[in-house]
Amino acid sequence: MLIRRVEVYTVELPYKKPFTISMGTSYSSTDVVVKIIDDEGNVGWGEASPSRRVTGESEDTILSAMSVLAPQIINEDPLNVEEIERKISGAILGNTAAKLALEMAAFDLKGKILGVRLRDLLGGYKDRVETDFTIGIMSPEEMASDALRYVEMGFRILKLKVGLDVEEDLARVRAVRDAVGKDIRIRIDANQGWSVKQAKKALSSMERYDVELAEQPVKWYDYEGMAELTRESPIPIMADESVHSARDALLVANMRAADYINIKLTKAGGLLEARRIAAISEAAGIPNMIGCMMEGGVSITAAVHFATATRNVVTTDLDSDISLKEDFVEGGAKCENGFRILPEGAGLGNLRVKEGMLKLWKVFEEGKEVSTPL
Ligand code: MG
Repeated sequence: MLIRRVEVYTVELPYKKPFTISMGTSYSSTDVVVKIIDDEGNVGWGEASPSRRVTGESEDTILSAMSVLAPQIINEDPLNVEEIERKISGAILGNTAAKLALEMAAFDLKGKILGVRLRDLLGGYKDRVETDFTIGIMSPEEMASDALRYVEMGFRILKLKVGLDVEEDLARVRAVRDAVGKDIRIRIDANQGWSVKQAKKALSSMERYDVELAEQPVKWYDYEGMAELTRESPIPIMADESVHSARDALLVANMRAADYINIKLTKAGGLLEARRIAAISEAAGIPNMIGCMMEGGVSITAAVHFATATRNVVTTDLDSDISLKEDFVEGGAKCENGFRILPEGAGLGNLRVKEGMLKLWKVFEEGKEVSTPL
């Protein structure tokens, strides 16, 4: 069986409410969705979620990269995902979200052809994983009332976005801890918003609110600062924007620049590279979280498969689809009482993409584009 056709779509995904982190506020996401089809009509789905400030990609750059990447997989055997990954990773530097969408679709197709769930192709470990719910930066009162709402929905882990002002950040964490009580796990994410000095002050003050970990307190390129905080902070440090690839994970492991590494499929550019990051992390004694960008149900479901296949993934932050006004997929990983549960079915599972929500961009067949932009 060979991949014969790649259809590339865009989909508008407005959020239920604006989402603010230290790097800015966003209101919606335009994701790129790919559908790949083999010569027997089997279908695989993939999704790319742009993150301008983390991977440097927008919907336009993802589409542009697709013109280079999609022809690479035409006439390839979908069972040879390593070979597909070699071709797409060698075709253009960076552009990890675009690469992820194609590799994910190839894995989905492979699973469908073999009649095996993606989780089982990748390892196989468990059927569900607990996720946190992320609360964007707002006033302490708003964050506390949102926190209560999510706890009522069954979430037992909350991730609070911080990183604007140390005193205000402290007030946010205090307000949420006071509202939810001591049994709810709280973690924070400063998204590079602090200096090392500010981070030291913030983290030593936040210790009393029982914060379990602090994600990316300082700039992604400040590996020395991350190492210093990992040595000195009373709260464990997690690298997020500092680690995209296996090479980055090796650097962080060698420098002891984090206590945890947050894997995101979008940063890694695929499940295979994500697995390499997990392997390096595990060998270095660094547990992983798997997180997300503002992704819909296809990409989130792929991440749940990865998490349920990978023992070194000890916690997850897979909640973005819950924050969408309407997802473009039904039947992906369910969320019940804070747990993400794998769907039944081969590949990514028996999910139904609402094709009416998708806008066709281009179709690639036999190594050439067969239609122009609509
Ligand atoms: Mg983060």
